[in-house]
Amino acid sequence: MKKVLIIGAGGVGGVVTHKCAQVPEVFSEIVLASRTLEKCKNIRDQIDRPIEIAEVDADNVPETVELIERVEPDLVLNVALPYQDLSIMDACLSTGVDYLDTANYEPPDEARFCYKWQWDYQDRFKDRGIMALLGCGFDPGVTNIFCAYAGKHHFDEIHIVDIMDCNAGSHGHPFATNFNPEINIREVSAKGRYYENGKWIETDPLSVHKPFDFPEIGEKEMYLMYHEELESLVKNIPTIKRIRFWMTFSEAYLTHLRVLENVGMTRIDPVIYEGCGVIPLKFLKALLPEPSSLGANYTGKTNIGCMIQGIKDGKRKKYYVYNVCDHAEAYKEVNAQAISYTTGVPAMIGAKMMLTDLWKGEGVFNVEEFDPDPFMSDLNKYGLPWKEIFYD
Ligand code: NDP
Repeated sequence: MKKVLIIGAGGVGGVVTHKCAQVPEVFSEIVLASRTLEKCKNIRDQIDRPIEIAEVDADNVPETVELIERVEPDLVLNVALPYQDLSIMDACLSTGVDYLDTANYEPPDEARFCYKWQWDYQDRFKDRGIMALLGCGFDPGVTNIFCAYAGKHHFDEIHIVDIMDCNAGSHGHPFATNFNPEINIREVSAKGRYYENGKWIETDPLSVHKPFDFPEIGEKEMYLMYHEELESLVKNIPTIKRIRFWMTFSEAYLTHLRVLENVGMTRIDPVIYEGCGVIPLKFLKALLPEPSSLGANYTGKTNIGCMIQGIKDGKRKKYYVYNVCDHAEAYKEVNAQAISYTTGVPAMIGAKMMLTDLWKGEGVFNVEEFDPDPFMSDLNKYGLPWKEIFYD
């Protein structure tokens, strides 16, 4: 019987709250806090269980500490934005409470994806006797666990990993992003990067692409990008010789993005406009639909998985493990589209792993460091069933 404090009432926060509410035997009390109380109220009103709500600015450490001290949760589940990761980790250190998130810290003025800032908390979390679980969404998150599962059950050595993220859904807007627009556009417009034979190789944004025939979806063009799980997987699975991350985009999305970039709307440095400093990307976010509002008319499916190659019993082996998630089904269940759903469900399962002591530790961890089996079994149970293909 445990109490969870969820911070962030956006698309993912809504799903996490719904999913925690579905598991009362673990999450006996749920508190949802965010910057805008109205958004917490809206989520609370969708759920048939008492949910306490609170307003918090999680950039403000003393304010977050005060909230944690008042609520006394067993775990803080951070689904606000990557900018808040360090301040919420500081608040957890100060109060001695475990921490979980779904995206690595990013400094607001620099689009750089790297675990160093959070891995640097290792000794402080260890000395305090508490645990931080980083990147427990789908990618990062389930994709890391797919690799750990493959390593445990199907390979003696993993050599090559291609993580492939396909959203073949349609939300009906000319341009919208499936998770926080600011974070999404920073990620997509950054340089690509992959790891090969001990080196990181950089590519121009979206310059490397190829088609892939996604099961249950069909052929889609996918683009090489940098994604944070590459960094932790290279560290935690040292036999990896090459690892890359691919994401599909529609032509319409890419055309809009190109225009926005060309006119300067994706800049993250302040521009002086009528005497005020305006950050174009933040202004653009204010114009675009909220990810949490996209669900109602979303149709189609996502397919996210890992194509893994390596050695088993002296023979080369190739294996694909993936999940397919239907936008409309997700909306029917929790009022959210599949991207929020595929992130929120693993965040709930990760919290469940921690609160039931199946995953235990002191310090800062990535998900692939724990036994993947109970997590994989919960994915089947809580809405994200996975499938495997074995190639000859
Ligand atoms: P949204 O923009 O829909 O929601 C973010 C929420 O955080 C909003 O409610 C926002 O409040 C709140 N928030 C922002 N700043 C603060 C603050 N200082 N204090 C308190 N609350 C704050 O984003 P998503 O729900 O789509 O994404 C949430 C997180 O999930 C992001 O970190 C994203 O990167 C991550 N993610 C991870 C994925 C994965 O697979 N690992 C995939 C998709 C997303 P307000 O409404 O007032 O702005």
